[in-house]
Amino acid sequence: MKITFLGTGTSQGVPVIACPCRVCKSDSAKDKRLRSSVLVQLKKSNIVIDAGPDFRYQMLREDVKLLDAILITHSHKDHIAGLDDVRSYNYLQKRPMDIYASVRDQETIKQEFSYAFREYLYPGVPVINLHNIQQGIRINGADIEVLPVLHMKMEVYGYKIGDFAYITDANFIPAETMAKLMDCKVIVLNALRKEPHVSHYNLEEAVRVLEFLRPEKAYLTHISHLMGFHEEVEKELPGFIRLAYDGLELDIPNSWSE
Ligand SMILES: [Zn+2]
Ligand SMILES: [Zn+2]
Ligand SMILES: [Zn+2]
Repeated sequence: MKITFLGTGTSQGVPVIACPCRVCKSDSAKDKRLRSSVLVQLKKSNIVIDAGPDFRYQMLREDVKLLDAILITHSHKDHIAGLDDVRSYNYLQKRPMDIYASVRDQETIKQEFSYAFREYLYPGVPVINLHNIQQGIRINGADIEVLPVLHMKMEVYGYKIGDFAYITDANFIPAETMAKLMDCKVIVLNALRKEPHVSHYNLEEAVRVLEFLRPEKAYLTHISHLMGFHEEVEKELPGFIRLAYDGLELDIPNSWSE
């Protein structure tokens, strides 16, 4: 299994439009963060978790020629705004795009992309096949587990694929989800900035959760310009925790054959 970080930024991305701060003016490529998303490449499928406003550019940058499915963590705009661009895959693959989301998020997607769900469709609109995920997910033989977490009061889904877990936009992980994370070798978790926030873990909280779970490797994502410079923040972290950055690739030995 190969993971590629397509974006590691919070909802505004980094740099923030017109922001004069030093992080937004940084020359380092690691301080440039598109909206958070990962590409998961399995033996038989390519899956993307979330499709925010940078989805089109992320698919071009990583040259993703085939896309089997999109898993949605939740329907905030920075996680779904790019769904219109599945049109290219509709055309190439000659089928609807399979999108997995909670019932609540399916309703939001239907509202925000209402033109794709009308009885009479304008030619060229995105063709989306929404799937329920209560019973878990199976894509081309690969089982994917849903990891419910809280984003303030909103339930958001993380996903567990083999030994890999991806959780974004959380500030609380219930006990049942913590139990599912105990045997994960690689965990991605959100950490917005150093200061506390009402709906996201800050750096200290995310590190505390990861030190408890103690995976082999952990990566922080959904990072704000207020976090500071990538290179400087990394020096403050325990060795097994790194800040993710756009374009980072991880090879994860697979625990199953799909
Ligand atoms: Zn977000
Ligand atoms: Zn800034
Ligand atoms: Zn959110």
